Amino acid sequence: MGGAEVFAERRHQMVETQLLGRGMRDQAVLTAMRTVPREAFVPAELRAWAYEDMPLPIGNRQTISQPYMVAWMTAALQLAPDDRVLEIGTGSGYAAAVLSCLAQTVYTVERLETWVRQACQCLRRLGYRNVCLRHADGTLGWPESAPYHGIVVTAGGPTIPAALQDQLALGGRLVIPVGAHQRRQQLLRVTREGETTFRQEALGVVRFVPLIGAQGWPARKHSRQGREPLPRRARRRGPCGRQRATRRMLQPQGVLKQTYRNRNRPG
Ligand code: SAH
Repeated sequence: MGGAEVFAERRHQMVETQLLGRGMRDQAVLTAMRTVPREAFVPAELRAWAYEDMPLPIGNRQTISQPYMVAWMTAALQLAPDDRVLEIGTGSGYAAAVLSCLAQTVYTVERLETWVRQACQCLRRLGYRNVCLRHADGTLGWPESAPYHGIVVTAGGPTIPAALQDQLALGGRLVIPVGAHQRRQQLLRVTREGETTFRQEALGVVRFVPLIGAQGWPARKHSRQGREPLPRRARRRGPCGRQRATRRMLQPQGVLKQTYRNRNRPG
């Protein structure tokens, strides 16, 4: 088997065990997860771990989320093919690629310029043409292209940014991790029911890197994030070989506890 075939086989296994095995039944999301080559979005030295059931460090103390987390958040958005979706926290660009298989246009905002450049190159090289990228503070959204049928935030903030609620279309869904502590959040889905009315659902407990910005955490509090403890599994078989380096680099971004598994599908 060649390299591409090996990764295709691992991708297939990931969908079988991590997604179908956990009760994910959204066919469009499963198809997208079977299609997007996650190995292209992780650093070269971590490609062998691309389909492991864990987040992976992409550098700069940031992570590419666990595959299940990407699938779960994407399913929670309940996207239709004509939808316009906004992602806050582009990171590697992997989740944007998954979203681009399910929506008409993906707008993605990242506060670290390096990631915008790298993700843009990677997405263009792989042929994802319906993704627009912007270097900005995503807590303020992307007002010029609003309203959005779906908004997903891939970093955890202290509260729901008002700007993001305002940029939701009527009936639109915002999926965002929110918590008073930087280590633990509730994954919330906020649905716009009227001009000023929103319905909120708690989907489960999660752990994300901090959302930093005007309507997120201040940049200063962010400084300890690299020292957070690893999930047990990652500590046991960390992808970087050297455990100290792994401990410093790897960010938690997985499910701590969630109701999704027991309730079939969100919504
Ligand atoms: N979705 C990414 C994972 C993102 S990790 C992927 O598929 O790889 C969270 C990302 O959110 C980090 O890249 C971090 O820099 C970014 N981030 C944090 N606060 C932000 C903000 N206010 N605006 C935009 N991006 C932000």
